Amino acid sequence: MSRHTFYYMGIPVEYLLIRKRIKNINLRISEREEITVSAPVSMPIDSITDFVEDKAEWIIRNLAVVERYNQNKPDVDVYSGKKAYFLGNEYEIRVFKKNIKSISVNGDYIDIFSPYKEKSGDIKRQYLLWLKKQAEIMFEGLVKNAYVMMKNEGINMPDFVVKNMKTRWGSCNMRDCRITLNLQLIKADKECIMQVICHEFTHLCIPNHSHKFYILLEKYIPQWKSIKKRLDTQYKDGI
Ligand SMILES: [Zn+2]
Repeated sequence: MSRHTFYYMGIPVEYLLIRKRIKNINLRISEREEITVSAPVSMPIDSITDFVEDKAEWIIRNLAVVERYNQNKPDVDVYSGKKAYFLGNEYEIRVFKKNIKSISVNGDYIDIFSPYKEKSGDIKRQYLLWLKKQAEIMFEGLVKNAYVMMKNEGINMPDFVVKNMKTRWGSCNMRDCRITLNLQLIKADKECIMQVICHEFTHLCIPNHSHKFYILLEKYIPQWKSIKKRLDTQYKDGI
C-alpha cells in the first residue's frame, strides 16, 4: 500500500495504491472521498500513473458528487477523529485497540477501547450502548427534577424509556403515564434535555399543542422557544 499524487489542472489529488493478485487495474472512490487504485502486482508504476491520469476528469467529477452527497448526509459512522457532542460539549472520538471493551471521557476526547478497532459497525454499536447507559442515568435525574417542579399540576411521576429515534425528541403516552425520550438528546446540554422533558410532562396534562399547552409549558420553561431552536440546529449528526 502506498500513497501517490497526480495533478489535474494544477490541483493535487491523492490516491492510495494497493497491489493485488488481480488481472486488471481498477479504481474506486469511497464514501469518505478517498481514492483507491488496485493494480496487478507486476504492473509498472508508469502504466498505473497513465491509467489514473486518463481517468482524472471522471475522478474529479465523481469526487464532487460524493462531496455533495456527504454534505447532505448526517455523519453516521463512529471513527477516530470524528467530532461528537455529549451533554452539550464537543469532543473528538479516539478508537484504541484493547482486549476489553470500555469507553471513557478524557478531557476533550471520548476514548473507545475495543478488540474490534477495525469493525466500524461494532464500534458504533458499542458507542450507542454506552450513550444509552449515560442517557438513562442523566435523564432519570432530570425527569425527577421535572416532576418536583411540575407535580402541583396534578400529574403522577411517569415512567420513561430511552429510544434512538429519527424524527422526534420525545413522545408521551398519557394513558400509560410514560414518556419516551430520544437517545440523541444526550448530545445536547441539560437545558435542552429539560425543555423536552417538560414538554412531555405538559402532555401529561394536555394532549395536544393548543394555546393552553404552551401557556402551561411557558410557566415552567419561559425560554422554551430559543432552547428548542438551539436543540434543533446544533446537535444533529445522525449517530
Ligand atoms: Zn408535543
